[in-house]
Amino acid sequence: MHLKTLTVRGFKSFASATTFEFEPGVTAVVGPNGSGKSNVVDALAWVMGEQGAKTLRGGKMEDVIFAGTSGRPPLGRAHVSLTIDNADGQLPIDYAEVTISRTLFRAGGSEYAINGNSCRLLDIQELLSDSGLGREMHVIVGQGQLDRILHATAEDRRGFIEEAAGVLKHRRRKEKTLRKLQAMQGNLDRLEDLNSEVR
Ligand code: ATP
Repeated sequence: MHLKTLTVRGFKSFASATTFEFEPGVTAVVGPNGSGKSNVVDALAWVMGEQGAKTLRGGKMEDVIFAGTSGRPPLGRAHVSLTIDNADGQLPIDYAEVTISRTLFRAGGSEYAINGNSCRLLDIQELLSDSGLGREMHVIVGQGQLDRILHATAEDRRGFIEEAAGVLKHRRRKEKTLRKLQAMQGNLDRLEDLNSEVR
């Protein structure tokens, strides 16, 4: 599995549609300060479901929409799509190529799609979680984050590794199931109380 192409339109400094093509292996994005290198990484995080405006270096989510320049008016929507090569079937979907996309409208509302079919954010998160591209995005290490990881407690560090390894999804499901079991046990106890009262 590898990232094949990333297309951004109206996202941060990318007003016009811009497509990045990635080959397997290491990709380096180079450019002068402020030219938009980190915006490319933000677009990756965003299309994979990032919900934190701060993680995307903004104050509110709307800040990802192209805000305009002296020569170009602001746009009404941001759109990012990411095509992933899934020839090895690492993503649990029957396609050799998977395109996920996300659109945010300035007027409000957003859309998600997998291979052109509308879906929920949860569907994208579930699709990616087994690949290690999880919700909390520990596979994307931003500037300054390295320090945070190096100084993290053992427990936090374990969380980072679990997220990257795709274990966190199962831990969340286990916790949810345990909560349900506890509620069931409570119901059972109440039933037994009632039963002993009527006997
Ligand atoms: P550095 O090397 O300094 O880290 P960089 O190449 O990573 O810089 P970015 O931080 O990706 O640059 O891009 C910053 C640029 O993106 C700034 O010029 C900023 O004005 C522009 N920018 C960010 N959000 C928007 C937006 N919503 N609309 C228009 N431009 C934006």
